[in-house]
Amino acid sequence: MPRDWRDSVDLTERQALVRRSIRDLCSEFDDEYWRERDRTATYPQEFVDRLAADGWLGMLIPEEYGGVGMSTSEAVVMMEEIAASGGGFAAPQSIHGGIYNSVPIVKYADEELKAELLPKVAAGEETIQAFGLTEPNAGSDSTAMTTRAEREARSASDRSASERSGTAAERDGDEYVINGEKVWISRVEDSDYLVLMARTTPREEVDKRTRGISMILVDLEDAYADGLEIERIPKTASRAVHSYQLYFDDVHVPASNLIGEEGEGFYQVLDGLNEERLVIAAECLGLGETALESGIDYATEREVFGGPIGANQAIQHPLAEAYADLLAAKKVIYDAADRLDDLDRTEAGAEANVAKYLAAEAAFEAADAAVQTHGGFGVAREYDVERYLREARLTRLVPVTQQLALNYLGERVLGLPRSY
Ligand SMILES: Cc1cc2nc3c(=O)[nH]c(=O)nc-3n(C[C@H](O)[C@H](O)[C@H](O)COP(=O)(O)OP(=O)(O)OC[C@H]3O[C@@H](n4cnc5c(N)ncnc54)[C@H](O)[C@@H]3O)c2cc1C
Repeated sequence: MPRDWRDSVDLTERQALVRRSIRDLCSEFDDEYWRERDRTATYPQEFVDRLAADGWLGMLIPEEYGGVGMSTSEAVVMMEEIAASGGGFAAPQSIHGGIYNSVPIVKYADEELKAELLPKVAAGEETIQAFGLTEPNAGSDSTAMTTRAEREARSASDRSASERSGTAAERDGDEYVINGEKVWISRVEDSDYLVLMARTTPREEVDKRTRGISMILVDLEDAYADGLEIERIPKTASRAVHSYQLYFDDVHVPASNLIGEEGEGFYQVLDGLNEERLVIAAECLGLGETALESGIDYATEREVFGGPIGANQAIQHPLAEAYADLLAAKKVIYDAADRLDDLDRTEAGAEANVAKYLAAEAAFEAADAAVQTHGGFGVAREYDVERYLREARLTRLVPVTQQLALNYLGERVLGLPRSY
């Protein structure tokens, strides 16, 4: 008897520990829990609190700031397992930002900000769940963003007594005034902070469109009090995790909340992009695995014309094909996660884009095969596969579309001309 079909890659001791712990934790949240979160479009707060209580939101934060100090090789296991537990794509997405938005802060923020914020994030007391890049007219072409963060110096009389005795930047009275719109920004209502990408220099005034963009930490409670308005976007997939349109109208943020260097924010994002993309691929993979599991179970149990439907190759082969494609994606993800430190940025980009592309396609194929296997029940909410199919469709669109992933491979790996 072969080992479980999901156990197809060898794990390090640390990865095996993550898998065991996450499987245990996820077993407290059954299919009905995730079904209900999707049906009622409710954020899985209990699940997130449970992960936070065990320190998982600080998994990528170094130990010196109270985190666990793990890396991409462990994050892929964690997110794959969460999705594969039956939570689908929504489950890892509910904490994805909470884990990944601390990465640029660890790498680029001032020591003062890091020491103040990271231990609280690691302890699950505060969350940085939201990352704001996309705008109504800047999605795939994100450098077309027009949201402005203009630096202004306030006069001493405008400042409160506590600010006057505050940090150097606050004492100088420097702040950013933010105006513009963002769209599709996830988990805003479930977050204390937003990592905002905004233009500090207009696109017309920079030599390269990737310059002049800055990364700024926005305290959301302060921002709501100062003119930030948000509106939830009704959507069909990953319903438990909400996305929003954001309207900034003269929102003031202390200049000390700048993360890294002014005007270099886009490069700071690119820096962590490949790792994050691999982890998204692992989330797609877990989704495909849970969908395939549902398909296999139903194909084994359901009898039509006096025998299990799984004996029919028209049912069996699509499930087997999905397995083969999920396996291929899994090998690429785990291999790339393992070798990441030895790859240069283009090589890592190639691996991450291949992984995301393959995993999203395989997830869709698995979910579609599972729906077909279920016959009419494929669209019944109680069997979950329709939820997986909606989510699998979404994975072909986010965080980068499949076309943009292919563009990277066509241009950077195959040397074909650029389309934009
Ligand atoms: C549920 C959800 C959650 C999200 N969460 C966040 C978030 O938290 N933060 C955030 O900043 N953003 C978020 N996004 C935004 C997401 O990253 C964008 O939707 C995505 O990058 C695509 O951008 P767009 O929707 O503007 O599509 P567009 O850029 O308008 O593209 C439309 C279509 O044209 C294709 N296309 C465009 N240019 C090319 C080209 N050169 N070659 C081939 N095809 C091309 C695209 O692939 C796509 O199919 C989220 C989106 C969704 C749906």
